[in-house]
Amino acid sequence: MSDHIYIGADIGGTAIKVGICDENGTLLHSYEGPTGTEDGQDAILENIAAYVRKIVEDSPFAWEQVAGVGIGIAGFMDIPTGFMKTSPNLPLRNVPIKQILEEKLGKLVKINNDANVAALGEAWSGAGAGIPNVVCYTLGTGVGGGIIIHGKIYEGFNGMGGELGHMSIVPDLEAIQCGCGKMGCLETVSSATGIVRMAKDAVERGDRTSLSHIDNITAKDVFDAAKAGDEVANRIISRAAFYLGKSMAAIAVVVNPQRFIIGGGLSKAGEFLFEQIREVFRKFTPETAQEGVEILPAILGNDAGVVGAAGLITRS
Ligand SMILES: [Zn+2]
Repeated sequence: MSDHIYIGADIGGTAIKVGICDENGTLLHSYEGPTGTEDGQDAILENIAAYVRKIVEDSPFAWEQVAGVGIGIAGFMDIPTGFMKTSPNLPLRNVPIKQILEEKLGKLVKINNDANVAALGEAWSGAGAGIPNVVCYTLGTGVGGGIIIHGKIYEGFNGMGGELGHMSIVPDLEAIQCGCGKMGCLETVSSATGIVRMAKDAVERGDRTSLSHIDNITAKDVFDAAKAGDEVANRIISRAAFYLGKSMAAIAVVVNPQRFIIGGGLSKAGEFLFEQIREVFRKFTPETAQEGVEILPAILGNDAGVVGAAGLITRS
């Protein structure tokens, strides 16, 4: 075992999770504390530093063994300089996060967006362990993504690489506007929000479905109804799966990853969803681009963020 340990911090709107990883991406210790969002920017940064110090103090490791601290956070940032422009769920605006935390901790700090970091976690020691080229989807309220090439995050020119949810993929006649302002993004159909919207539309149209008896429809309700044989619910899930599979067919001939990994809340629907995605992928992808390619569920769950953040230090 090498002397070094790698610290990851996953910054959410309500909680900050910090963890210590070894050189293989195994999560050895973790700790979670409140983000302190209501107390503002300085408090959040001080909390991150405090939790990082605490987890090392409470572990058998020495501070000298810390090779660096990686930070996963939602928002628009300049990744190389670690400068946060805006965050959707945190009061962080125009903050040099990397610089401030390096001063507070006296260690190398790297930041990246939460979806990229979760992808790196899965690629390092999760469902993509040992595989150099992996593309990850996170299916939640939106569709997040991350592209890992040769074991490292591919960010592109200005950090938009891997924004899989905003692949414009739904044909014009069926396209609706996405939160990003453009039409027909994958996220409009294949996220929990998209599935719920399609379900509500069907109920409002008067389609015959068991969903019409539910007050506040959730994506899980739609999956449950589909599994129970509801035709309308099945049509909605098939549509979500169709565009996911098609987007993978497009990625397969651009990036040609060996493995697609799907995490996030919707991935809990399991094989029912995965089998439909694989079928679409097989249908639209050239034989040589799909040979040996697997589409698998993520395995690190909520730890992917903290593991991937630690991975920023050794794998970026
Ligand atoms: Zn979009």
